[in-house]
Amino acid sequence: MKENKNVTIGGASIAPNSRKQVHIKLPRLYDYTEMTIPVKVMRGKKEGPRLFVSAAIHGDEINGVEVIKRLLHHPDLKSTQDICGTLVLVPIVNVFGYNNKSRYLPDRRDLNRCFPGHYQGPLASQLAYTFMEEIVKKCTHGIDLHTGAVRRTNIPQIRACLDQGETQELAQAFNAPVIINAQLRDGSLREAARELNIPMLLFEGGEALRFDDYAIDTALRGILNVMREIGMIKTTHEKEEGTKPIFIARTSHWVRAPQSGSLQSFVKVGDTVKKKQILGVISDPFGYHATRVESPLNGMIIGATTLPLINTGDASFHIATFEDLKEHEQFNDQRYGPISKVT
Ligand SMILES: [Zn+2]
Repeated sequence: MKENKNVTIGGASIAPNSRKQVHIKLPRLYDYTEMTIPVKVMRGKKEGPRLFVSAAIHGDEINGVEVIKRLLHHPDLKSTQDICGTLVLVPIVNVFGYNNKSRYLPDRRDLNRCFPGHYQGPLASQLAYTFMEEIVKKCTHGIDLHTGAVRRTNIPQIRACLDQGETQELAQAFNAPVIINAQLRDGSLREAARELNIPMLLFEGGEALRFDDYAIDTALRGILNVMREIGMIKTTHEKEEGTKPIFIARTSHWVRAPQSGSLQSFVKVGDTVKKKQILGVISDPFGYHATRVESPLNGMIIGATTLPLINTGDASFHIATFEDLKEHEQFNDQRYGPISKVT
């Protein structure tokens, strides 16, 4: 049995077969309050993969914080003896945004457009650089947890580059209802991880500033599935049986409101829809000037607004298209049942 080598994060050395909480130093607030990124490291006795799980890169996306909290106390991770390799948990990357309940940094930059960052750059760039140096570069695999934006909810989904062999395997192993073969965005953590050849998944589920149990539970199970896949924990009775998800979205499309008014919605996230199906009706406060919102394609609702007060052009329903929609319909009904967590 090979012993784990030393791991140093935030200046702290973490011994094999131990857990440690460390705080990575960041620039202070302007009132001179110290700021740090809290990190929990769990090191197994045996050498193995090093997986980071991060959340709240967008400070108002709090589902992932709850996912990591529950993961830390999961029975499968009770003893470091049972773990191969190292699990690095970073529940709040954007601590500045989290404390302001904001997606952004105080300088209004989006952290997920600032990777890999620079140590002399603006605050967001420094934070991105610190995260890359202290966490990403010290790991072999990554999972980054996100939610929909404020007042928009997403069905639990994995976004990943499926042309990367191991990333595709991890995406399948995660076992979320939907996988989106998402292109990389400039300055994103996914792009920076790819530059380093570190397979990384991005999970999206639920809505900003809300806990969504369905999304939290899906993410928690997914992370444990990935840990089993890469050999960090043993397969237990909790491993999900059955077919792996094969529902990979080719493209997705936002349906925008054809007029202003209040929206009466007839569909929810997870529903499959047909081309020209009526998704909802927008009307004035007296119920007049009603206009139907139609689906422009066959697909599934993967995201939707949770605020029914709509201006012309507002993004209202996010629809993804799949290779085989009929198969998806059956799969979704059998495995997940109706998805009630819409609001
Ligand atoms: Zn996000």
